[in-house]
Amino acid sequence: MQDMQFIDGEYIPSASGKKIDVIDPSNGRVYHQVSAGNAEDIDKAVKAARAAFDDGPWRKMSGGERAAILRKMGDIINERVNELAELEVQNNGKPLPEAIWDIEDTAGCFHFYADLAEELDQDEGKNIPLSEPRFSSIAVREPVGVAGAIIPWNFPMLMAAWKVAPALAAGCSVVLKPSEVTPITALEYGVIAQQAGLPKGVLNVVTGLGPDAGQPLTDHPGVDKLAFTGSVPTGSKIMAAAARDIKAVSLELGGKSPLVIFEDTDIEAAVEWIMFGIFWNKGEVCSATSRVLIARSIYDKVLTRLIEEAQKVKIGHGMEKGVLLGPIVNKSQFEKIKAAIARGQEEGATLASGGKTPEGLEEGYYLEPTIFTDVPLDSWIWKEEIFGPVVCVRPFDGEEDAIRQANDSRYGLAAAVMSADLERANRVARAFRAGIVWVNCSQPTFTEAPWGGYKQSGIGRELGEWGLNNYLETKQITTFNDTSPWGWFLKG
Ligand code: NAD
Repeated sequence: MQDMQFIDGEYIPSASGKKIDVIDPSNGRVYHQVSAGNAEDIDKAVKAARAAFDDGPWRKMSGGERAAILRKMGDIINERVNELAELEVQNNGKPLPEAIWDIEDTAGCFHFYADLAEELDQDEGKNIPLSEPRFSSIAVREPVGVAGAIIPWNFPMLMAAWKVAPALAAGCSVVLKPSEVTPITALEYGVIAQQAGLPKGVLNVVTGLGPDAGQPLTDHPGVDKLAFTGSVPTGSKIMAAAARDIKAVSLELGGKSPLVIFEDTDIEAAVEWIMFGIFWNKGEVCSATSRVLIARSIYDKVLTRLIEEAQKVKIGHGMEKGVLLGPIVNKSQFEKIKAAIARGQEEGATLASGGKTPEGLEEGYYLEPTIFTDVPLDSWIWKEEIFGPVVCVRPFDGEEDAIRQANDSRYGLAAAVMSADLERANRVARAFRAGIVWVNCSQPTFTEAPWGGYKQSGIGRELGEWGLNNYLETKQITTFNDTSPWGWFLKG
């Protein structure tokens, strides 16, 4: 396991020599320490990234040459899937099959953006028809420069890939600041970059606390673009900091996403997607469908089956076979979720299932899958992101009511609808005010499709071609093709 920061192609100790504890959420014990980076470390990393961008070979390489290195990074990650997944189980708590899935997706993300880097070679600039025949104009795309990437702890390697892979494909250099809670696999990017032959300084990883390392990165004048995934309050601070130097910014923030289930939905399918929508990755998923709306005529049936299945979920260490729910990522998140559960009860909602630490799992941060019913529309637990395995369920009466309840949120990251009537499902899909909509499912995410939120859930889109555009500037090149005088002198 790495413990130092990766700057300018090498692992080096932090300027202060200070360390951050890394905790195993299955037992709450410190098992590793990493550098506590600060403004000095960030400055070093940004200068390395700046030099690599301004004077290094990376952005001058063809897309095909960059693609070869990105592909190698993906291959190395694929070769190390099990080992990297186990590191994430220990650091984040997620069950091993889910961690393997994440790491495979991470490798896939590098392969996908390798293809897009290659496609950039075919892009000789878009011809822009002009109203003045003596001129011609083309629009070309170029890398935006040095990107600062700040990520959360729920998908430690994958969230980094969503930023690092398209940024590198575009020809940018990157300073990555992982979450202080889950720095372990993010630090492995250094070794992967070295082995894949990424030129030094193109990718830098600085670990540290948000205010100590994240903020200096957002404030640094050498950064051209900030890409952030995390909570709304931090996103707001980052946007404010970016405003000072007019840095480009993309934000992937929180959500309180609805899942609407119509009366013609198969009950068993509904139960499985409700569960996957909120208990997968312990509910530590920005797009988790944490508000479930069920047609009144099937409400009792769905709820009964949901409670039965939720109580069967195997909770335990992520490495244990059959476990679907691992420990919550750390003590502070565990306490936050417990406080939210207590608040829900105070607000008058009914705790229909779960809400406690399971018996025999008192060590570590384990919590039962939790279901609230009778949730008041104006309650905190209905409105705010809990970011844990806690779902709020309400009935609805008719399509209009479902859409109204679903859209009544300051967030707009994701939404889902289930119905046997695809015409209705698609009508509702269009009516949702959210950036990601699932029909007859919830959560499956594909590297090819755009990802991001409406309203307070963010700005911009990651993944797919949209993810690459995040790291590209557009430049017009306009040429005067005539030999006759322009005529300005003669006008007077
Ligand atoms: P967080 O906002 O607390 O932290 C995210 C990152 O920001 C961390 O690396 C942290 O160190 C850093 N940070 C904190 N303060 C900072 C500051 N002042 N300046 C710069 N950086 C700072 O979020 P979290 O608790 O790590 O993650 C959970 C949140 O992330 C949830 O709200 C969740 O919905 C969101 N999330 C969103 C998506 C998405 O794609 N929309 C994906 C995953 C998580």
